[in-house]
Amino acid sequence: MSALRTLALMAACVAPLAQAAAPADPAEFPACLAGLKAAAQAKGVSSATYERLTASLAPDLKVLELLDFQPEFKTPIWDYMASLVDEDRIADAQARLAQWQDVLQAVQTRFRVEPAFVVAVWGVESNFGRNFGQRPLLTSLSTLSCYGRRQAYFRGEFFDTLKIIQSGDVAEAQLVGSWAGAFGHTQFMPSTFLRLAVDFDGDGRRDLVGSVPDALGSTANFLTKAGWREGEPWGFEIRLPAGFDASLAGRRNKQALAFWRARGLVKVDGSPLPALEAQAGVLLPAGPNGPAFLVFRNFDAIFSYNAAESYALAIAHLADRIQGGAAFVTPWPTDDAGLSRAERKVLQTLLIARGYEIGTPDGILGDASRAAIKAEQQRLGYPVDGRAGQKLLSALRAAQPNTQ
Ligand code: CA
Repeated sequence: MSALRTLALMAACVAPLAQAAAPADPAEFPACLAGLKAAAQAKGVSSATYERLTASLAPDLKVLELLDFQPEFKTPIWDYMASLVDEDRIADAQARLAQWQDVLQAVQTRFRVEPAFVVAVWGVESNFGRNFGQRPLLTSLSTLSCYGRRQAYFRGEFFDTLKIIQSGDVAEAQLVGSWAGAFGHTQFMPSTFLRLAVDFDGDGRRDLVGSVPDALGSTANFLTKAGWREGEPWGFEIRLPAGFDASLAGRRNKQALAFWRARGLVKVDGSPLPALEAQAGVLLPAGPNGPAFLVFRNFDAIFSYNAAESYALAIAHLADRIQGGAAFVTPWPTDDAGLSRAERKVLQTLLIARGYEIGTPDGILGDASRAAIKAEQQRLGYPVDGRAGQKLLSALRAAQPNTQ
């Protein structure tokens, strides 16, 4: 899911929107590209490659809007989890686990990462290869190299994209992805590709677009380089004692399990914490009144794939569920639980039946869906925030309009 990396990227740079940028002028683009050639060559892009691949580029100024986009709707973690770890994705992942069993076994042998986690990343990053993103990387990254707030960063990604094409690993036409340049089954950024992609199927090319084995191997290589420890848990749900000092919480405040045992933490079923040598931190993704977890080093490895704790929790939980693990025991601190993708489609269908034009139901709540949701919240006397949970879905199901 390229949007995730987009969010992480935005989170890393939301801070200063202070200086108003000068309006982007497409007429300056050719001169900008010409000015970048020497720097590209210094990074290993040949003059011929640069000339060939930039000759017909034109900027896509839409990506600048996406760079500066500030979401007015902040997704609660229970909505995020409900759509990323839903029954459809669990079943899908289990099917992939069986289909790619031999490759995943070989991947584990080489990189020491358990298959369920590799498949979970695949399922969240691209919905198992269904959503790669649509934007040509060279167009997006050259635009972001010449305009906007993060030109230095994107120039590096632009040059790395040129190098990927120059090497023959992935063809230019196949390099489409998110507005920020994440591409392929695993939604690697070009720089990540150059560092960590592997040719797992042995055809001589590292192809994260056309080769599932390359994508699975590269994901495992990423995780192992990020410090994955085979056989160690990512974490597990716990129960906090009454009066737990929440200042001890935090992924980075890792302590021996004896430390946590002494402070009254138990597994969520009430049993004692296991006897493990590894250290763990307390994760409270929705504060002290929601599900609580002890998380180990492997959680950090997932976190480094996409720097958001909610993302890491979704991957970890999906991996558990693929292997028959249970849903979280402690409910999220809300009286209006989130919707699965299937439920979001039903909601969209109900909104369309009420006359809203929101396109084809796809389970993705974009701007048009949010606007329709707000209008219905207004009508129903709900808080008008654009969020859709079980309450709104139930209300619309109960009040289906007469469409005969
Ligand atoms: Ca290959």
